[in-house]
Amino acid sequence: MNWDIPTLEELEESVWRCTACGNCKTAYDFGPPATFGEICPAGVEFGYDGNMASKGKIAFARGLLNGDLEWTEAFLNDIYRCTICTGCQNQCELDHKPVIPEIMEAMRRKAVEDGVGPMPTQKVIAQSLKSYNNPYQGPRRVRTDWTRPFKKAKKPIKNIMKKDAPILFYVGCTGAFNLPVRNFPVATASIFQKLGLDFGILGENEICCGSTAMRLGDTEEFKRVAETNMKTFKDLRENHGVETIVTSCAGCFRAIKKDYSLSDEYEDHLGGIRVIHTTEFLFKQFRDGNMAFTKELPWKVTYHDPCHTGRHMIDYEVDQDGSRQWKGSYLGKSEAECLYDIPREILGAIPGIEFTEMERIRANSYCCGGGGGVMTGYGDWAVKNAGLRVQEALDTGAEQMVSICPFCHYNLNEGSKRLKSDLKVYDLVELIDMVL
Ligand code: SF4
Ligand code: SF4
Repeated sequence: MNWDIPTLEELEESVWRCTACGNCKTAYDFGPPATFGEICPAGVEFGYDGNMASKGKIAFARGLLNGDLEWTEAFLNDIYRCTICTGCQNQCELDHKPVIPEIMEAMRRKAVEDGVGPMPTQKVIAQSLKSYNNPYQGPRRVRTDWTRPFKKAKKPIKNIMKKDAPILFYVGCTGAFNLPVRNFPVATASIFQKLGLDFGILGENEICCGSTAMRLGDTEEFKRVAETNMKTFKDLRENHGVETIVTSCAGCFRAIKKDYSLSDEYEDHLGGIRVIHTTEFLFKQFRDGNMAFTKELPWKVTYHDPCHTGRHMIDYEVDQDGSRQWKGSYLGKSEAECLYDIPREILGAIPGIEFTEMERIRANSYCCGGGGGVMTGYGDWAVKNAGLRVQEALDTGAEQMVSICPFCHYNLNEGSKRLKSDLKVYDLVELIDMVL
């Protein structure tokens, strides 16, 4: 398989399009009401020089390209102290906007190629992927532990390799191995069973989507797992009747939808398969009248937009050949694939819920702090940053926070514990399962 994953050198023209204006420091929305706030977790924690938003990171890219900068531990820290939340990308309006995260990840790819990246604490991820096919050092047989309650209740979940089904529930490593969030695959499967859906899982044969490897710049490891998955998905479509892949993890969703599309065999392997996040999948069930909320949940809830189901899914329009404006110019964007409205509509439809918004929402959401390898590489900072987001939720008067990413879910709960607050974070599927 050939992959169109750009090197830093291939992105050089875009790198020089940054005017160092600094707009990427702040989340702004002209409203009404107009809102302004911090957008860059790295800048909030480490200050402006280099760390904050794309302005600093792009300056590093220039330094690497023209040979002014060499790898040092401090410099590597600056490259890896970024959650790849794309908050800065959302603010920038210049022509290199569409490729800002690619520039950051291309620097990481260069670090890995040069044998200096990722950071020592993050190397465990690559090692775990190689040894266990997941980033949690989890033995293969543990991957299906979450299905035990279903077996006990004599409602076993199909292994799709043994029994065909049109829907594959791609669970993801976080739901399978990270105990504090294991309830989300349980809730998802419980909802699917309540709705009478014909679905299956890959069980012990499921492997990591490769999202973490890609975000850390480990292209080889990403390609290895991505190619294996794509071959599996093709086999599932051709031989096991799979038409839809549902994933509850924002990272898996982004990886399968966007990162895999960088392969020249994407259409051949995934063409004809619908890849959809659980939230959107369930919303369609709700809209079509197949799912009704019959119980009440008298909760005061706010909603956290994960980066990977939000602004990571923005589709940027670029004038590739210069026929409309000038070659490579940024023309506009589409947020059609971003899951902003759907979770809010579901929350609004659950009887009893009092919904309240934080200030930084949708494309201006403030990252939980766990992405881009930060939770593994800089765990204390990740949790401290999550505490900032939890405080924002508490300021609205909310008592529960809901999200649709197990990574955000885990990290925000850790942030809440750090603040010694009573606020609990839930995945939206947990709420849906409670009221069905
Ligand atoms: S990345 Fe964009 S917003 Fe940030 S300094 Fe450069 S041009 Fe300005
Ligand atoms: S991607 Fe997020 S953490 Fe990284 S520089 Fe941009 S705003 Fe900061």
